[in-house]
Amino acid sequence: MARVYNFSAGPAALPEEVLARAGREMLDWQGSGMSVMEMSHRGAAFSAIAEQAGADLRDLLAVPENYKLLFLQGGGAGQFAGVPLNLLGGVSNKADYVVTGNWGKKAVKEAAKYGDIAVAGSGEDVGFTTIPARENWMLREDAAYVHYTPNETIQGVEYPEVPDVGDVPLVGDMSSSFLSRPVDVSKFGVLYAGAQKNAGPAGVTIVIVRDDLLDQAQPGVPVVFDYAAQADADSMLNTPPCYAWYTAGLVFDWIKRNGGLEAMAERNARKAAKLYAAIDGSDFYRNPVEPAVRSRMNVPFLLADDALDAAFLAEAEAAGLTALAGHRSVGGMRASIYNAMPEAGVDALIGFMGDFEARNG
Ligand SMILES: *Cc1c(COP(=O)(O)O)cnc(C)c1O
Repeated sequence: MARVYNFSAGPAALPEEVLARAGREMLDWQGSGMSVMEMSHRGAAFSAIAEQAGADLRDLLAVPENYKLLFLQGGGAGQFAGVPLNLLGGVSNKADYVVTGNWGKKAVKEAAKYGDIAVAGSGEDVGFTTIPARENWMLREDAAYVHYTPNETIQGVEYPEVPDVGDVPLVGDMSSSFLSRPVDVSKFGVLYAGAQKNAGPAGVTIVIVRDDLLDQAQPGVPVVFDYAAQADADSMLNTPPCYAWYTAGLVFDWIKRNGGLEAMAERNARKAAKLYAAIDGSDFYRNPVEPAVRSRMNVPFLLADDALDAAFLAEAEAAGLTALAGHRSVGGMRASIYNAMPEAGVDALIGFMGDFEARNG
């Protein structure tokens, strides 16, 4: 068996140990005589799995008592609607959005169906190569929340710190940086993340919501997206994404056993720093993002001569380095180096890049 180094932006590589354990437990989960896929979500076995996953996630992120954890379906994009549906039916129907790339734009477009949405800042006029600094955000005092994307998966820009927006609830689409480092949950009203980047397989979406925001929903919110109803039902209002929830739980356990979020952060910073150093140290490769706001998770880069893109990708693939094509909207390459990408994978990529440059530069 030869596993490749998979640089996919999502669904993305999972820790090999997690996959091996899921494999071992596939036919018979801990003496139950069945797979987790086959269990009733209301039974004792799955309840134990769900509770453990929740407890481990709370522990990893030090989630304060007054926040609920929800394990929902619908993906990050589902929450583009879920957030306004849950937050724009109370004190205000206004929300301010900061746009740092494709995902932020999509969030605005979806939210505009449900409320009065304003763009408080955007990096679009500079091609999303930097982020609007907090002091330039134009916030409305009567907005119900401010939404931003801490890490933009496609453009590769990331907020180094959580911006301070005072008393207005801050909402973060953390899909591509969730669990990549410690984060102060108490600075957010709502955090959400599709699992398939850094926290598990596709199919489960994690929402962390402060409990005083649970009475702001619009009357039309679909019940499966209703934070209050799902919180009351422990995310089991209907059949939850059982197997994805279980696998995410295995990832949480893996992170805990590997030093927690501090250790992830340290390793991720080291991986990103060496890859950016390799890019910046050559005239053959380049990354257009302002260095201070470069993503530690998604590293886009361009070849000086894009006529070599196809050869780069084909030769990388042959060397066991896969899914390096950049998003179609930015072109070039993108290396996604989430928690599950070992440092050896980044080293192998850097080695290949040097070799490719030597042969083609
Ligand atoms: C991938 C991604 C999404 C979309 O997630 P889906 O689960 O495919 O809906 C949203 N936001 C960000 C930042 C992402 O990286």
